[in-house]
Amino acid sequence: MTASPIAIVGAGIAGLAAARRLADAGRSVVVFDKGRGLGGRMATRRADGFAFDHGAQFFRVRGEAMGAALSAWREAGAAGAWFEDAFVGTPGMTAPARALAAGLDVRTECAVTGLSKDGAGWTLSDAAGPVAHPANGTFGAVVLAVPSPQAIPLAASAGVAMPALADAVYAPCWALMLGFPGPLPGVKDRIEPDDRAVAWVARNASKPGRGEGESIVVHARPDWSRAQLERDAATIPALLSVPLAGLGIDIHAARYVAAHRWRYALVETPAGTPFLADPAGLYACGDWCLGGRVEAAFDSGHAAAGAVLAEAAR
Ligand SMILES: Cc1cc2nc3c(=O)[nH]c(=O)nc-3n(C[C@H](O)[C@H](O)[C@H](O)COP(=O)(O)OP(=O)(O)OC[C@H]3O[C@@H](n4cnc5c(N)ncnc54)[C@H](O)[C@@H]3O)c2cc1C
Repeated sequence: MTASPIAIVGAGIAGLAAARRLADAGRSVVVFDKGRGLGGRMATRRADGFAFDHGAQFFRVRGEAMGAALSAWREAGAAGAWFEDAFVGTPGMTAPARALAAGLDVRTECAVTGLSKDGAGWTLSDAAGPVAHPANGTFGAVVLAVPSPQAIPLAASAGVAMPALADAVYAPCWALMLGFPGPLPGVKDRIEPDDRAVAWVARNASKPGRGEGESIVVHARPDWSRAQLERDAATIPALLSVPLAGLGIDIHAARYVAAHRWRYALVETPAGTPFLADPAGLYACGDWCLGGRVEAAFDSGHAAAGAVLAEAAR
């Protein structure tokens, strides 16, 4: 008998690490993401001839599984070294996600709103009702690979209690993207200023494989972002213009200016477990498990997939 397919909700690095491990073990997987692209917070925005990695800036590698993945990404031209032991996706931060997803059934623009289980297995729904999938039946297990605040209503819709989801705490981040008509002399590739609003500034073009114009990404500090969270995005650039001027960046000279609100950006308090599992066949993973880094998200997804495989082998 063929094992039932596994549904993965979330095509960030955690969901795709899980999907890849399951697919490589011969399981059929379908990945759903509400976004248009892959990678979640490993994101690249292209606009007006500029490219901005406006979410995760770089990743480090720990552990064998991610080490093997990095080797494959580098071989495929999907990752390169930026500085010291920090790597980036090439030509953008989404490239490792796309490499993991190669050959997988990924359904984008599908926001899962509910889960239910009956004797036949799991069904996922979006706003239009149950979502179809190629096996045209139900799923044997569901892996939630979304930020914990977004996993809470999904687990609740299935009647599954996962109280540890509420243990993780996220900080928000306002990201500012600035595209300049020419190079900014004197601006360093990476700046971590001693400022109450600005936490990080990076010249996107200093990353390997970019070659696009002078794209600057600015990340605001968690406390500042929290205080400004519900502001209109259009008001954010002006609020950051003074600290940026102090760093030699005149936002009025930029040809492209946009701000992006990351509501669940960086994990302040992780749940402290590699993943969560319910005997009904519901799993939850993501950066909120082990700490808010790409490598923690990868490890969590990889571990959750291992648990799905172990359960199937019982
Ligand atoms: C501004 C910023 C800077 C960062 N800098 C770094 C850094 O330099 N280094 C580093 O290691 N980490 C950094 N991080 C953190 C890193 O990006 C995350 O830890 C990691 O990418 C999280 O991966 P994930 O798969 O757990 O979650 P995500 O990447 O958030 O993926 C979750 C996916 O689930 C989808 N989704 C959510 N709800 C649903 C639903 N109901 N139905 C369908 N799909 C859904 C989302 O669209 C998303 O694609 C940064 C994050 C931000 C925001």
